[in-house]
This record gives sequence, C-alpha cells and structure tokens, in this order.
Amino acid sequence: MDHIATAPVPACPACGSAGRPVQSNVYDPDGAIAEPWSFKQCVNTDCGLVWLDPAPRPEEMWKAYTTYHTHTRKTGKRLAKATLSLAHRLIKLCLQPLWLANGLKREADYLRFMTLAQVPPGKLLDVGCGGGRFLNRIKKRGWQVEGSDFDAQAARKVMARYGIKTHVGDLLQCALPADSFDVITMSQTIEHLYAPEMTLRECLRILKPGGLLVMTTPNCASIGAREFDALWRGWEAPRHLQLFTVASLQRLTRHAGFEVTEARTYSAGAAVVYRVSRTNQLKPSGNLSWLGELGLLVWSYRRELQEYRAQASYPHTGQNVLICARKPLNE
Ligand SMILES: [Zn+2]
Repeated sequence: MDHIATAPVPACPACGSAGRPVQSNVYDPDGAIAEPWSFKQCVNTDCGLVWLDPAPRPEEMWKAYTTYHTHTRKTGKRLAKATLSLAHRLIKLCLQPLWLANGLKREADYLRFMTLAQVPPGKLLDVGCGGGRFLNRIKKRGWQVEGSDFDAQAARKVMARYGIKTHVGDLLQCALPADSFDVITMSQTIEHLYAPEMTLRECLRILKPGGLLVMTTPNCASIGAREFDALWRGWEAPRHLQLFTVASLQRLTRHAGFEVTEARTYSAGAAVVYRVSRTNQLKPSGNLSWLGELGLLVWSYRRELQEYRAQASYPHTGQNVLICARKPLNE
C-alpha cells in the first residue's frame, strides 16, 4: 500500500458553493492507497454535486492507478476461477428469459452500444477509453473511431490490440480540431476528471453542430449507494473525484452549453456493483467458499432485477446515470 499527497477541495468543483460532509471512511477498493477518504455534497440544491475532499494532488494521482484493472491481471486459483466463470455464464444464460420478459435485456443492449445501436455510423471519440473494448465493438458496426485516455499504458494497448488511434492525455491537452466528431462517448469517465466542466466545454468545441454526447457515471443517489454506505463500490476513492446524480450531471451538462435530450438512470450491469459491495461487507469474516461465491452471484443478479423494477416507482435510483446531450446547431 502506498501513501498519496493530497490537497483540500473546499469549494464545489461545479459551482463554487460550500459543501457538507456526506460520506467518510471510504477505503480504496483496489487497496492501492492506505488512507480513508471523505466526500462532501454541495449545499447549493440546484447543483448537489458530491466530491472528494481532500483529493490526491494531480501529480500524485498515478499512484492510485497502479493496481487499476487496465494495469493488472487477476490472480488467484485458476481452476476455481474457471469453474466460477463457467457457472457465471450458466446463470446468465438461465436468466435470459427473465431479463427479456422484464426489459432488462433491452436496456443492457442499449447501454452496450452507449445508446448508439440504431444510430447511423459516423465519427466517434471515446474519452477515457480504457482497454478499448467499446471502441472495438462500435468500430465493427462501421463507426470511424478514436480514443483518448490519460493512461499512456492503456492507450498503447488499445493501439496495439485493435489498431485504433488513441490520444494520450487529458482531453484538454489533446487539442483535437473543432467541429470534428459526430459523437463523443464518456463511459464511467467524468467522475475521474479534475476539470469536469472544462472537459464538457472541450467536448462541445470538438463536436460538430448537432453532435451527440453520451455519458454514463455511477449514481450516488442509487439504491445501492444508500444500502452499502461507505462500502458501496461506486465511491472508488480516490480515483473518483466527484460523483453525480441525474440532476447534478444534467445541470453541469447544460451549464457547459449542451441541450440535454435524455437524463435517467439504468440498472443493466448493476449486479457486479452489488456483488463487490456485498463482498466488502463480508470481508472481515474471511474469504467466501466456492458455494458462497455462487450464492452471491445469484443474489447480485436478483438485486439488479429488483433495482431495475424499482425505478418505475422510484425514478433516478438506478446504479448508473445516463445523460445524452446535443451541441446546439447554431453554436
Ligand atoms: Zn455545486
């Protein structure tokens, strides 16, 4: 475990208002950094952003990514892992009819292509492209794609593995040409950024007029966040510098100059967050048995379906926020 130099973040990164403490004692789920972390929520009810205070100094942040999933291979007993992975696939297969009947399958497909499955192909940039799997998937559908990631190692892998042009660095440093993309996607990225609003303004500049921005991010007003408190996997401290709700991300996107066309939460994929959050709760009593892990898998898929259904009565409580927004035509 490493230590990281921090700096206080006394004012809301979105609107400059003061904040009140909302969550403390959050530990790095990857175990890279030893300190416990705290989050504040903006007192401006129009904004409501949640942010990490204190936060790692930008020049030290690399330390928090040394054990991140784009840098490491999973270790463990190979046979047990392979068996569990097979069981996992079987469970998913058995659940397909239930997902189809409930509409969760349709939602998962919609998000798998970042809402673009039915959109005619054009030029797309994925900001924070990580391992590049989404870029490769959408490229196969005829899209002309580029990626960007501040992690040079991840960017190199995307170029080597998929032959996709990937810019290294913060989007603001990439200095891409104005009015050049039909679509920009940011999947689970905006919560990692030091300058979220400036990045959105940069997206506005490099999108063509009428171009589309699609963002997903963990929802800190989700059912899971409330249930697991400091053990919720979505906190991801200290890599998540801020967390959003539908309202707070919608506000920031509009403030940056976009017209928001879709703002909601979704539950597709929430099972993994339930499973890891629950594992965090169970950890003090030791590692789970193989059967325990299997039971947890079934439980987590049940919770995903429950959460999906709950949104009909409790809107905006799903695991992730989805915002789609357009650059105005007369921009
Ligand atoms: Zn604020």
